[in-house]
Amino acid sequence: MLKFENVSKVYNNGFQAVKSVNLEILKGEFVVLIGPSGSGKTTTMKMINRLAPHTSGTIFVDGKDIRSLNLVELRRNIGYVIQQAGLFPHYTIEKNIAVVPKLKGWNASKVKQRVHELLKLVGLDPEVYANRYPKQLSGGQQQRVGVARALAADPDIILMDEPFGALDPITREQLQAELIKLQRKLKKTIVFVTHDMDEALKLGDRIAIMKDGELLQFDTPEKLLHEP
Ligand code: ADP
Ligand code: ADP
Repeated sequence: MLKFENVSKVYNNGFQAVKSVNLEILKGEFVVLIGPSGSGKTTTMKMINRLAPHTSGTIFVDGKDIRSLNLVELRRNIGYVIQQAGLFPHYTIEKNIAVVPKLKGWNASKVKQRVHELLKLVGLDPEVYANRYPKQLSGGQQQRVGVARALAADPDIILMDEPFGALDPITREQLQAELIKLQRKLKKTIVFVTHDMDEALKLGDRIAIMKDGELLQFDTPEKLLHEP
């Protein structure tokens, strides 16, 4: 589903943030990228949707070199969730999620139906929340909306960059459990960034450990725990 071959990223200022990473992620797999701050996790995610294009090596999505795809094509297939949800503050929840379905040229009632279905999927009652604004929701609820929006185009791959990092421990555990259920149901390929090993062990089918731009290890939680 997702393959990195000797992938590196040198930023415009000359700094090399990612160093010759090789990685293969299977369809439907939940992969957690973990490592200290500055180890290149966010850069790795942003290379996949070309927010930070890689500078050497090759990235394949579904067997295709991402440089051969146009950005719209690529990003339609990749949902992206970030720490503070990144919702448009002046749009209602419904309008925030509807951005992508509208691009598909659906009529208003089909868009509304899809938005309501997505809200239910992430555990928010559309009758209560659809017409609210982001600041009228808690942090955890905003993250749910962020997940709903990322799912709107029905992408095969979802990138999640510390989506629960700003939440209180209880909300965080609740959303972790729900994400695992959602993943089993939808069978999306997920790449999830965290710097919390407990979270990584709980969520990951496999865990990729990064340090100083390099991929140090890529294995199942069982192997990481029992073969130091
Ligand atoms: P690119 O090489 O992708 O064009 P730029 O150097 O133009 O990147 O910077 C893109 C953005 O990243 C800018 O908003 C910049 O402020 C920010 N940025 C620059 N250096 C760093 C850094 N060391 N860490 C995090 N962000 C940075
Ligand atoms: P992490 O997500 O693991 O914290 P990042 O991928 O954000 O790491 O950053 C990796 C390294 O690249 C850091 O040293 C950071 O300062 C640097 N960096 C990030 N963005 C830019 C940028 N736009 N320009 C220059 N350096 C950057």
